[in-house]
Amino acid sequence: MPKSPPSPERRHRELKAQIAEIDHILPGSINVVMNRCGKPGCACHADPPKLHGPYVTWTRKIAGKTLTRRLTPEQLERYRPWFENNHRLRELISELQALSLKALEQTEGWDLKSTGGQKKPGRRGR
Ligand SMILES: [Zn+2]
Repeated sequence: MPKSPPSPERRHRELKAQIAEIDHILPGSINVVMNRCGKPGCACHADPPKLHGPYVTWTRKIAGKTLTRRLTPEQLERYRPWFENNHRLRELISELQALSLKALEQTEGWDLKSTGGQKKPGRRGR
């Protein structure tokens, strides 16, 4: 059988199935840093330095407010798949959106790309 890309309908079904498989999802982003302290003679100033950390910070937005919370490295390992699920879900959703936009274009005979960009509310944050 000749190879052909999956039909949009089939891809649509696959995407929905993959979305249905996703379990826990945590919003926000993770930042991991290693630090030097101000104490002279501390191991973090040695050569080679032994830095403090890792310090894991979890940042998310709730109603426009940024909330941060410290996680232990163990907690990060435990919840890492949940953060990855969030990322994966976003990818699946944007592909599903792209398919839906195409379906709309075909049904309505529109070319959505020719009508210019959408207005985005607000400005970029600090
Ligand atoms: Zn130190």
